[in-house]
Amino acid sequence: MVRVAGGTDDVPHPAGTENPMTLRTDALTASIRYEGSARSLQLDAPTAAALTPFDGTASAAGDGHVLTGPLSTANALALQAAFPSLRPQRISDHRTSVGTGDRTGLATLGQARAFAAEGTGVMPVLAQQSIREMDRLGRSARSVMDDAVFGLVEAGWNRGFGADCDHIKTTEGIDRGLDAGFVMFTLDPGDMVADVTAGVAPAEAEALPWDQLEDSLADLKARYVGTTLDVGHSQITITEQDVLTAAVKYGRAVVESMRLYRHTLDNAQHEVEIEFAVDETKWLTTFFEHFYLATELTRLGASWSSFAPRYVDGFEKGVEFRGDAEELRSNLAAHHAIAEQFGGYKISLHTGSDKFSIYPLCAEATAGLVHLKTSGTSYLCGLEVVAAHDAELFSRIWDVSRASYARARASYQVSADEERTPASLAGVDLLELIRSDDARQILHVGYGDSLNATDAAGAPLHDRFLSVVSAHQEGHSEVLAAHIGRHLAPFAAVPAMR
Ligand SMILES: [Zn+2]
Repeated sequence: MVRVAGGTDDVPHPAGTENPMTLRTDALTASIRYEGSARSLQLDAPTAAALTPFDGTASAAGDGHVLTGPLSTANALALQAAFPSLRPQRISDHRTSVGTGDRTGLATLGQARAFAAEGTGVMPVLAQQSIREMDRLGRSARSVMDDAVFGLVEAGWNRGFGADCDHIKTTEGIDRGLDAGFVMFTLDPGDMVADVTAGVAPAEAEALPWDQLEDSLADLKARYVGTTLDVGHSQITITEQDVLTAAVKYGRAVVESMRLYRHTLDNAQHEVEIEFAVDETKWLTTFFEHFYLATELTRLGASWSSFAPRYVDGFEKGVEFRGDAEELRSNLAAHHAIAEQFGGYKISLHTGSDKFSIYPLCAEATAGLVHLKTSGTSYLCGLEVVAAHDAELFSRIWDVSRASYARARASYQVSADEERTPASLAGVDLLELIRSDDARQILHVGYGDSLNATDAAGAPLHDRFLSVVSAHQEGHSEVLAAHIGRHLAPFAAVPAMR
C-alpha cells in the first residue's frame, strides 16, 4: 500500500530537510534531501533489510534505519522495485493524457504539482524525451527515467505516470527506450513521407515496394476508389487520384512504420504502447490520408493508442496557436471521427506548449480522446529562475541561443526573428524578454547549443544551469506548476463535459 504524505506526517525528518514530500510503503519511506543545490535520496525503514537494495550510507536511527544515497540509476531501479507507482504505466488506459517532457531533469516536481492541482483525471507523461533531445544534452534514456523517478519521490506522486520515448526513427532508439523501461514508443516514419501534395503519376505508385506492403496497386485501388469516407461533419468520395497520392506520399512510411513497430513488439520484455507520428512533415495529412494510414497499418497487423497527423498550420514552438481556430476544430473533429472508426485511439497534439486559446476546442473536438505533448517550455520556466538568480548566466545562454538561432531554427517550426530581439541585455526586463514570442522561440530552440557551451572560465553552462535551478527548486517548481497547470485545466474539464 503506497500512501502519499506531506510534511505534517509523523515521520521525523533529518535536519537540513524542509518538510519534504515522501513516498511510503509499510516497509520504506523515501524522500529527496537538499543541501544547497546538491540532492540526495533519503530512506527510512523499520528494518535494515529493506535498505539493502540501495546504494548509500546506512545507519540505525531510533527504532529504525536510515540511508542517505546518491541519485543514481541503481537507486532509481531499487525505488522502482519497491514502489509500483514509480514504474511507468500505459497511458492508453486513460482517455485524456498530457506529456510534459523535461529537458533538464529538474522539472518533474513542479509538473507533478500541476497535475495534482489542475490535472484531475488527466494521465501525466512525466518522462518524455525524443532521441534528438537526449542526444543534444548527452542524456541517456535511463537518465531521463531516473530524473523522473526522483522527481516523483520529491513530489510524493503516487498516482502513476507514463514514459514516452518520443519521435523514434531508428531501431537503435527503440532499444535505448526499451532498456530504460519506457512504455510508450512514438514511432516516426516522417523521413519516408514523400514530398507530394497531389497530381502524382501512376508510375510513381507502381514503383512502391509492393512486396513489403504485402499488396498490389490493383488491390489497393479496389479497396478504396469510389468508397465514401465519413468524417462526421462531411462525407468524402474517394477518387483514384486520392488513393495514388496517399500511397505515393505515405506508402513507404507504412513500410517504415511496420519495421519500427515490429522491432518494438519483438524486443519488448514489458508491456508497451505505440503512437505513430507524422506531424513533423511538410504537408498536411488529409482525412483520407489518415484513413489510408490507419487502414494499411491495421491490415499489416499494427495496433496503436495514439496518432499524430500533420495538422493545419499554426503550430509553432512555445507560442500561442497562430492558425485559424475554427479550421483546427473542424480538422480535429474529422481526425477524431476517423480514429473512432478504428476502435478509438487518441489524436496526439504535438508542439502543444503555450497554446492556451485552443485547448478547450482540442478537448471538445476529440471528446477528450486526446494526448497533448508539450516539452520545451518547462525549460523556459527554468530560465526564469536563472534570470532571477544568475543574470550573468542567463546573459550567456541568451548570447549563444541568439547567435545559433539562424541554424537551429531549421529543425523547428518557428518564425522568430532575432533582429527583433536585443543583442545586449543591459536594462532589459529579463522576465518580460523570456515571455515575449521572439525570445521564447530563440531560447526554446537554442537549448542544445547554449547548454553545451561554456562560460569565460570554461565551466559548462549546463552544470551551472542545473546548479542554479536546483538551488531554487521550490521557486522553480512554483513557476512550473502554474505554467503547466494552465495547460492542464481545459483537459481536466473534459470528463465533466461528457
Ligand atoms: Zn512531434
